This record gives sequence, structure tokens and C-alpha cells, in this order.
Amino acid sequence: MKYQNENEFRKANLFGKGEPNVNFAQFFIGESFLNPLTDFQNGEFPLFNVTFEPGCRNNWHIHHADKDGGQILICTAGEGWYQEEGKEPRSLNEGDVVVIPQGVKHWHGAKKDSWFSHISIEVPGENSSNEWLEPVTDEYYNAL
Ligand code: MN
Repeated sequence: MKYQNENEFRKANLFGKGEPNVNFAQFFIGESFLNPLTDFQNGEFPLFNVTFEPGCRNNWHIHHADKDGGQILICTAGEGWYQEEGKEPRSLNEGDVVVIPQGVKHWHGAKKDSWFSHISIEVPGENSSNEWLEPVTDEYYNAL
């Protein structure tokens, strides 16, 4: 379901908006927010609800690992997009789950006319790292 109005979206965003995602802002177009769901600073498994304002998306990127790794997205509120390089974009709604294998170039974010949240799970892997690449251009994104 699309939410253009933030007050309406807030009621649907059960896992919370959290704080501006300042550490990764350089890899996003538009504003995103991070809400930690676990006490990761004291060793609990890191789990975050990521909220994107309408039009916000991250750059193309790759979750690298020598073994296992990758990322799982659990869509929690609003509507968004997920796209792997060379494939059509996938429309995301509340309740959708996206399994992103390590090594696959992709991006994810909100639709241009809706707030969107997903829980992000970085699947543990050997020698895991993230590689941030070029932005998803306005020309491409706005035509979705
Ligand atoms: Mn990702």
C-alpha cells in the first residue's frame, strides 16, 4: 500500500523510523533512516528497519563474501523497488521477502510516490564487504 503522507505511514511503520542514516547518506539519493531492532552494540545480531522517504533509493551495490553472505530484505511498510542488474525491477509490498545472493549487483528503495520500510539482514559470510557503485539515475528511476 502506498503512503505519500508521513503521518499515515508512521502508523503502518511498525518497526519504527529511527534516526537519519547519516553514515550511509553518501550512498543514497534522498533521505533514509535507520532503526536498530537489536542491541547490536552489545553483541546481539544486527537487525535494522530501514525507512526510505518517497523517491529515496540506494546506489547500485554488491554484498561480497567468499562464502555465504548476501542480504535479506523483509518488507514492512509502504511500497518500494528491488532490482538486480540485467533484470526487470521488482515491485515490493508489505510482507515481501527478497533474498539477495552475495556478488549480485542491485539496488533497493522507495517508490517515487510512497514511503517504504524494510528490515535488512546482512547474512553472515566469510570476508564479507559491501561495494558501493553508481547511483540509480533520476532519468531511469522516474520512468519506473
Ligand atoms: Mn543491498
